[in-house]
Amino acid sequence: MKPVQVPPADELTAGWWDATRENRLTVQTCGACAGAQHPPRAVCISCGRPDDLALRDATGSGVVDSFTVVHRAPVKDLEVPYVIARVRLDEGPILLTRLEGRDDAGSWCIDDRVAVGWVDLADGRALPVFGPEG
Ligand SMILES: [Zn+2]
Repeated sequence: MKPVQVPPADELTAGWWDATRENRLTVQTCGACAGAQHPPRAVCISCGRPDDLALRDATGSGVVDSFTVVHRAPVKDLEVPYVIARVRLDEGPILLTRLEGRDDAGSWCIDDRVAVGWVDLADGRALPVFGPEG
């Protein structure tokens, strides 16, 4: 993967990004209602409570919810084609991510099982991408 532009961590996402340094994928989970959400927020989107949210390790598995194959690079030096996807984690939340690991980018299908992999960033964080499970 070529140049990756990733937003800096802020006070809500710092814990999530810190876990990526250890290649741990986490989801914010509400202790009151067990709702899981991504990205991390100040309140639970299921029950509205602001005070019972914690990051828990995710299994790193999920299914392809939607995807598109990009053939025209939006910036110079970006290798194409690549696959942008929504992956629905087994815990429920959806991540906007990339699909990798197949020679034919167009061979992906909705509901394909996928598992997390990691792309190291220059600042020590890592970016979750997904590939075929198993
Ligand atoms: Zn809740």
